[in-house]
Amino acid sequence: MNKLAQLIWKDVTGENESNRVSYIVRINALLMCIYFIIFMVVFSIQGMFPTVGTCAICLATYGLAVYLTYRDYNTLALAIYSIVTIFWMMRFVMQWGWECSIQHFVFVLLLLVFVGTYASDRTKILLSIGVFLVRLALYTWHVSFEPYEEVPYNITLMFQIINILSIFLSMIVILMIFTRDKMATEAKLSQYNKKLKQISEIDPLTKLPNRRSVISGTISNIMRGVCENGVCIAIGDIDFFKTVNDTYGHEAGDEVLKQLASLCHEFMKEHGIAARWGGEEFLFVFNNENLDEAGMHANALLSKIRNMTVMWGDVEIKVTMTIGVADVNTFISGDVTEAEIDDRINEAVGAADKKLYMGKSGGRNTVVV
Ligand code: GH3
Ligand code: MG
Ligand code: MG
Repeated sequence: MNKLAQLIWKDVTGENESNRVSYIVRINALLMCIYFIIFMVVFSIQGMFPTVGTCAICLATYGLAVYLTYRDYNTLALAIYSIVTIFWMMRFVMQWGWECSIQHFVFVLLLLVFVGTYASDRTKILLSIGVFLVRLALYTWHVSFEPYEEVPYNITLMFQIINILSIFLSMIVILMIFTRDKMATEAKLSQYNKKLKQISEIDPLTKLPNRRSVISGTISNIMRGVCENGVCIAIGDIDFFKTVNDTYGHEAGDEVLKQLASLCHEFMKEHGIAARWGGEEFLFVFNNENLDEAGMHANALLSKIRNMTVMWGDVEIKVTMTIGVADVNTFISGDVTEAEIDDRINEAVGAADKKLYMGKSGGRNTVVV
């Protein structure tokens, strides 16, 4: 059973193609092989040997279509599938008339035109018109001529059941493969987009948002007017971080950055957001806080940093930070643009940076508001 499944789903398409077409054509041609094997048995029992001969030709032709899908000649396989289907539909409608529902196989062909080829829309429409004309020709024949053979009621019933079953099965197979393929592609694409978004917004070492994402988030917060008490920005720079690297190694420095980032992230959850500004510098956005509140919270954050100990083997590493805090002009008039808010944020970043350097020259390990 497993081997059979492997054989059916065997992939032979090029790397820029979907396997959809070959699966759809292959499984449909296989279904038709089964269909004609059943009829060959039934007609042999009935002694209808010329019909058995027609069925044998159809079986061989569908078998050829199956074979061609393994050689990656999918269009040729589909063409053969369609031609043989049209051939026996006409043949049997002429022979037994309308009651056997053979004519409904045109709908399978119609579906195949749209989901079983990579042809242009124009070609698909032309092929659909062709399928329509086949249907019309069949009906015209049916209303103009009597069938060649009288079919007993029980044979008509058997035909009805087998044909309806086959048509439904074919359509289900076509739609299932088509939707599965489409959904798999969409899922892949959405996962890929998520990954890209994450790569473009998250700093890989500290897992904090990066410069770009924190600024765009802050712009949209201010634009939405959800920060009526104001927005403050703080820039923190680790003191003497080069010494940490020089003394314990770059990896130890990375570990300090990671643990410090996680401490800042936890602390800032209540106030706004912590981001990695670059190197050993962090940016903190205090949403809905004025300069006094932000300064107080920046001091609270600094004392947590002073108390933090990073274990590197047996060694305890401790660091301090110098932080500059400035407020952003959040006044929104009717026609303020995103670019203007961006400028105001940049101004605040510049002011916070100046205060940070004042703190550095004043001896470090401090908050300047
Ligand atoms: P100051 O108190 O004046 O800020 O002194 P400092 O040593 O912190 O400043 P300096 O600008 O001289 O050095 C910053 C150091 O931060 C140098 C650089 O190697 C280190 N650094 C920047 N990014 C990373 C990183 O991702 N990992 C590690 N381990 N070190 C980093
Ligand atoms: Mg620095
Ligand atoms: Mg530094």
